[in-house]
Amino acid sequence: MTINDLRKLSEDEARELFEQVMWPDGQPVCPHCGNCSPKRIGKVKANPAKRVRAGLYVCKDCPGRRQFTVTTNTVFHGSKFSLTKWLEIITSMCSAKFGTSTQQLRRENN
Ligand SMILES: [Zn+2]
Repeated sequence: MTINDLRKLSEDEARELFEQVMWPDGQPVCPHCGNCSPKRIGKVKANPAKRVRAGLYVCKDCPGRRQFTVTTNTVFHGSKFSLTKWLEIITSMCSAKFGTSTQQLRRENN
């Protein structure tokens, strides 16, 4: 996959890519308790009408069945940037000869 391929990804495809990186064996891991049992983690069906976003999982081991996504407890969580934007930022930081400063990112994204 090239940088240009990454730039063409939809938000769903970007989230799936993050999931492949975070959970390389394909099994979501609860960021709250570390549970990674396939039988104890469920996928919540996306339902925009009820504000249930795609990529949401529920841990059956956590008290209160806590929910999580691939970005929970990461620097990407609660960010104003979409995952496609983060991919763009990461590839920009990795490909720039002298890196990318936070000031430059701010200028480009305001
Ligand atoms: Zn858990």
